[in-house]
Amino acid sequence: MPEGDTIFRAARTLQRALAGRAVTRFESVFPRLSRIDDDTPIRGRTVDRVEARGKHLLIWLSGDLVLRTHMRMHGSWHVYRPGERWMRPHRDMRIVLETREIHAVAFNVPVAEFETAASLARTPALRALGPDLLDDELVPAEAVQRIAERGEMDIADALLDQSALAGIGNIFKSEVLFAGRVNPFLKVRDVSRHDIERLVTIAAKFLRANVADGASGGIATYSGLRRTTGRSDPGARLWVYGRGGKPCRRCGTPVSRMKQGPHARSTYWCARCQPP
Ligand SMILES: [Zn+2]
Repeated sequence: MPEGDTIFRAARTLQRALAGRAVTRFESVFPRLSRIDDDTPIRGRTVDRVEARGKHLLIWLSGDLVLRTHMRMHGSWHVYRPGERWMRPHRDMRIVLETREIHAVAFNVPVAEFETAASLARTPALRALGPDLLDDELVPAEAVQRIAERGEMDIADALLDQSALAGIGNIFKSEVLFAGRVNPFLKVRDVSRHDIERLVTIAAKFLRANVADGASGGIATYSGLRRTTGRSDPGARLWVYGRGGKPCRRCGTPVSRMKQGPHARSTYWCARCQPP
């Protein structure tokens, strides 16, 4: 699942490429989208703005129409110049939104809906979202409170719960817990308020570092915090995620890995740095 920072970067790229421009062509494999395009054409509308909300990407068009997409596990938006070769096969194309200068293509996006401002406000998936870690007006106390209310959950699963706080995916889950020295399998009720606050602060810091202008692709927490060369070695970007059996970067203990939670997501941690 893409992390919140990935969606945020996609939204920012699309915002820069599309905002203020008129749509010259629209195409979609989703019948629901095509039907609305037939009834009230997308072509000729202006892209007002593009924003990320949790893991939803919203493209606001003139005339009170919002294209809402959700990436789930494998969806992505690409930006191309006209005539440029796509990086993904045509069969993966779900939506094409073209302006004169830029073609935006959504690949393998499983969720796509046209909304109005009013229907968007009623969308359960958006209403249920917790505070967004990348929101400039984030109120950390609210995120902390929502996590604390999930006393019976493992802390790792609570961090993934988008209705508690929006933005953390499976990679950041392990990274944030390692940086905060909190064992992933602790029940939330056994984690101190102070530690929950620290985890929220660390998560916001990691996500923001990864959306900073100039942040390279992929996700970084380890070298990403002290990126000096502008290069990021894929093997040296993360503290624990994907490093099962390799030595902990702090203490040398082999990094542990286990499936966790209702969706059996991989969790990585250091048994010594993050004792139960
Ligand atoms: Zn360690």
